[in-house]
Amino acid sequence: MKIVFIICDGMGDRKIASLGNKTPLEHAETPNMDTLAREGVCGRIDVLGRGVEPHSDDAHLTIFGYDLKKHYPGRGPIEAAGIGIKLMHGDVAMRTNLATVDKNFTVVDRRTGRIESTAPFAKDLDGMMIDGVRFIVKPGTAYRMIVIMRGKGLSDKITQNDPKIKGRKVLGIHPKDRSKEARFTAAMLTKFIEKSHKILKANPNNQKIKKEGKLEGNYLLVRGFGYHKKIPSFKEMYGLKACCIAGAGLYKGIGRTMGMKVIEVKGATGMPNTNVRAKFKAAKKALEDYDFVFVHVKPADSLSEDGNVKGKTEFIEKIDRELDVLMDTDAAIVITSDHSTPCELKSHSDDPVPFLINSKYIDADNVKKFGEADCEKGKFGIVRGKDFMNIVRKTLKF
Ligand code: ZN
Repeated sequence: MKIVFIICDGMGDRKIASLGNKTPLEHAETPNMDTLAREGVCGRIDVLGRGVEPHSDDAHLTIFGYDLKKHYPGRGPIEAAGIGIKLMHGDVAMRTNLATVDKNFTVVDRRTGRIESTAPFAKDLDGMMIDGVRFIVKPGTAYRMIVIMRGKGLSDKITQNDPKIKGRKVLGIHPKDRSKEARFTAAMLTKFIEKSHKILKANPNNQKIKKEGKLEGNYLLVRGFGYHKKIPSFKEMYGLKACCIAGAGLYKGIGRTMGMKVIEVKGATGMPNTNVRAKFKAAKKALEDYDFVFVHVKPADSLSEDGNVKGKTEFIEKIDRELDVLMDTDAAIVITSDHSTPCELKSHSDDPVPFLINSKYIDADNVKKFGEADCEKGKFGIVRGKDFMNIVRKTLKF
C-alpha cells in the first residue's frame, strides 16, 4: 500500500456571503479534488473536539493518531527538530523570539521589527554554560530562535517571560510546580536571559542596526517549553516507511518528531510563492522508496489569517492544478486540513475539516465535489481527529 497524505494547512473555512454563501474550497474550481472525492470516500474531521481551537502541531499529531496527553512533546522540541537539531533525553527546548526592550524592560517590539536573521546574535550566545547547564542557541526563520537547555535535573514546568503584547514589561520566569527541577530550571533560565541581554546589547550588529534607525535585538522572549522524550515512530505505529515533504520548519519538525525522513524540495518555502508542483513531483518520486508520503502545504492558512478570501480561493485552485502530477499514480491519495482557519476570524477555529480518501481499490460514496458541506454527507460524516488514522487504515486495509 502506497499513500500520499496531503495536509493543506488551514484550508477549512466557513460560508462567506461574498462567495455566494460558499466556503473558499466550495467556491474554488477544483476539478482534480472533485474527481478524487467522487471516486473516493469523504467526511469531515472534528480535530480536537468542539470548542477547542487547534494549533498546527497538536492538530497534526492528533490526525496522525498520536495521543497528545502521552506523546505531545511541546512546541519547543518540535521547532528544534524542524531545524534539524537532535535532542537528547532530558533536554528542555523552547521557542524564542529575538525582541526589543527599553531600559525598563518594557517590550518595544516582540519581533525586533521582523528582523531577517538572528544568526549573528545566536552565535554569541550558543554554548553558554551556567552552573552545569549548557545553552544551545540556534537561529530559526527571521526573528525566531531556538534555545535548548542541556544538563541534569531540568523541567519544562516553568512559565514564559513573553507578555505577548508590546508596551508591557517582560515577565519573570517561575516554576509551575514545587519540584526542585522546575525551581532549578527557572533560576538557570533567568540567569541566562540576564546574561544574554548584556551580550546582545554589546553585539556590533546592534550598533549598526541602531545607526540605520532600526530596532535592536536585545532580549530573548521564551515560551513553548518542552521536555524531550522519545515517542513511537510512524513506522512503529502503522508499519509504513514514511517521509515528509514540507516547506516551513514546524512541519519538518512534526515529520521528524514522528521519525519520518524529511525530503528537502527546492522552492518549497511555506509562503504563497511556494512551488507546489515541485512538492507533488517530489512526492511522486518518493513513492518509489516510501510507503507513506506526508505532504504539507502551508499558504491557505496564512492567507486566511490575513483575511484574504480571494488569495485563499486562488491558492486552493493552484493546489488543485498542481495535483495533476499525482492523478496518474496508483497510490492512494488522502487530502485534508489540520484545522479550519476561517477568513472572517483570521485565526484557527474548531470547525471540522473536510477529508477525502481515494484509492482505485475502494467503493466510492455519493460525494461529487470536495467541500465542507458535501463531505459531511459522505460515508463517514463527522469523525473525531483521534479516530482518523484508524479510518484511513481500515479503508485502505493496511
Ligand atoms: Zn495549521
